[in-house]
Amino acid sequence: MPKTTDNTLRPSFTLAEKLAQGNLSASACYQCKKCSSGCPLTFAMDLLPHQVIHLSLLGQEEKVLTSSTIWVCSACETCTTRCPNGIDIAGVLDWLKEEALKRGISVAQPEVATFHRYFLESIKAGGGRVAEATLVRRFTLFKLRRKFDINELKENMKLGWQLMKRGRMRLLGSHAPKGQAEIKEILKLIKS
Ligand code: SF4
Ligand code: SF4
Repeated sequence: MPKTTDNTLRPSFTLAEKLAQGNLSASACYQCKKCSSGCPLTFAMDLLPHQVIHLSLLGQEEKVLTSSTIWVCSACETCTTRCPNGIDIAGVLDWLKEEALKRGISVAQPEVATFHRYFLESIKAGGGRVAEATLVRRFTLFKLRRKFDINELKENMKLGWQLMKRGRMRLLGSHAPKGQAEIKEILKLIKS
């Protein structure tokens, strides 16, 4: 059973109401499976994208909110692009992630949720720009605390070194981007 901890954080919409809204328009789904056949991450999912839409329309909130799929999804939007009915499947999955957190449901993929959180914290601390090395260090420590795997650590260090050599990852923070006033306003709207 999912863990529901805080009733004050109950959503203002039910899943069915949300799915009927604007560009989500999930009720138009006729289960053609084009979304699932184009998704690059189905190998790691416990529900396929078309199944998430189907179960959501049936009101099976618990099944979709506790699934790994909503956390495995990288929001690449291939499914959304392929859908013949213009359903924003990636948007549905994003909304389900937020709902799972709001309802205090145990996250099926805690590493992914933690990465999202660290990433957002880094963006906030950097005034709109991520501090890559800090993010990697924090996330590596989080993973090591969960499970110490020397081979994975070595592989990650090797990868980090290659990225730094090619200038794809900075060791020190970079300059804050332009438009700081606007960025601050946006960041204020983001809840952790
Ligand atoms: S591609 Fe669109 S219509 Fe087809 S199964 Fe997926 S969500 Fe439904
Ligand atoms: S947005 Fe998510 S569900 Fe859609 S294709 Fe990409 S990874 Fe798959």
